[in-house]
Amino acid sequence: VFTDAKCALNNEFCLDEKQAHHIFDVLRTRENETIRVICDDEVFLAHPAKKPYLYVFGKEETEPRLVDVTLCAALIKSDRFEWMLQKACELGVSRIVPFVSRYSIIQLDDKKALKKMERWNSILMAACRQCNRSDKVELLPVTTIDNLAEYKSRCNLVAYEKEDEPSRHLANFLQKNPSSVTFCVGPEGGFTPAEIERLNEQGFASCSLGNDILRAETAVCYVLSCIEYQTHC
Ligand code: SAM
Repeated sequence: VFTDAKCALNNEFCLDEKQAHHIFDVLRTRENETIRVICDDEVFLAHPAKKPYLYVFGKEETEPRLVDVTLCAALIKSDRFEWMLQKACELGVSRIVPFVSRYSIIQLDDKKALKKMERWNSILMAACRQCNRSDKVELLPVTTIDNLAEYKSRCNLVAYEKEDEPSRHLANFLQKNPSSVTFCVGPEGGFTPAEIERLNEQGFASCSLGNDILRAETAVCYVLSCIEYQTHC
């Protein structure tokens, strides 16, 4: 279960109603079974005590991620965006910055964006649980291209399908083994030349993901898989 420090008592966690129902009534977890409780990026080992409490008996060592990855993702159609969130979480992204761009089919007003954030956060939490991650994916508020420089790291890239110079393939940038990467992926209709120019000005280097044009969500999976591969070679 994921919980926050507010629920931690001495050697116990007090679960909220929904989590307690899931652990005690749905899963019918037995007293001697172990539950991993993830709280502020620390992993505690606990046994069920009296509902809604878990008794903590140990702690698990967690390894920090080898590369800190920030994905700046243009808004795309809702179902595809949600699929992309889930896959990015499974593939080890650290944070996600959604942004609006000229050719996004979806343009959100503030009220809608707030509602979406709640749903997106719950999709990310479910994905973290499913893949047994011990760290949460940070979801930043929807922003614009002009503000993406705020999220820069050591290696800053924008995936651009019109970039055809072989030396600008993603693999060449990753060869330097950067400890942190921020990469931007455009919407269904791609980036406008002016948007690419703006991102380049802000320090994001255009890079290619090969000759074929990938869907935005495929491009995200491609980049994250390449980073993971590079980390382990
Ligand atoms: N404008 C394009 C078109 O319709 O021909 C499609 C854009 S693509 C569906 C969505 C995003 O994925 C792009 O903005 C880019 O960030 C990324 N992308 C897809 N294929 C790529 C490639 N081969 N190289 C670099 N980026 C790519």
